[in-house]
Amino acid sequence: MDDLRELYQEVILDHGKHPRNFRTPDDATAEAHGNNPLCGDQLTVYVKLDADGLVEDAAFIGRGCAISVASASMMTELVKGKTEAKAHELFEAFHAMCTGEGDGGAVDEELDKLKVLSGVRDFPTRVKCATLPWHTMVAALAGDGEVTTE
Ligand code: ZN
Repeated sequence: MDDLRELYQEVILDHGKHPRNFRTPDDATAEAHGNNPLCGDQLTVYVKLDADGLVEDAAFIGRGCAISVASASMMTELVKGKTEAKAHELFEAFHAMCTGEGDGGAVDEELDKLKVLSGVRDFPTRVKCATLPWHTMVAALAGDGEVTTE
């Protein structure tokens, strides 16, 4: 149980309970629905790109466990003001961090904020919870409306 308790650090519980950017923007340029049937997480991620390809706004709605909601909350905070390419880069680094293939530190120091979620690497089913919002955002940017972890 100690390991699990470590996974649910305060910052995760805070974002899980009080998610940032939890809303439906009416001017999003892309959106996608993400589904993680294993856990029951269902999120819709909205992205607004400006004319220069910068993520002007990112938001999400849905239902999910503390990990998926916290991850979505932190993700929307992190990608705002970034280029689409940078958002992809952060996704790759975060994914590697969660699966234990890297620590993400080399890519962007801002990814440090997400390191609290890297504990999921010890809980394979939780990796899907943590990465679902990111897969969904990438799907939205790619013009795919649906993504599932299955
Ligand atoms: Zn979950």
